[in-house]
Amino acid sequence: MKTCNFCGNKNMQQTFSEYTYKHDDKYMIFNNVPALECEFCKEKYYEAKVLKQIEKEFFAVQNGKKVSKKISVPVEDFSDVA
Ligand SMILES: [Zn+2]
Repeated sequence: MKTCNFCGNKNMQQTFSEYTYKHDDKYMIFNNVPALECEFCKEKYYEAKVLKQIEKEFFAVQNGKKVSKKISVPVEDFSDVA
């Protein structure tokens, strides 16, 4: 059984959540990604094969594969708004 690397808790829950992949200045958001979540500190753990699939899909999209949805994201430097 898996133990949380951060808090040592052993209670992990299967969840499906959003995952943001970033490579250089490019982002891709995946919804409903399976993860084990620590019930105590909420740290998420992804299986290596899940992360590999995400990476593969990211590069496929960079090479022209169509995605189901695109959003635009505002960007601001914190020193300009603080
Ligand atoms: Zn934890």
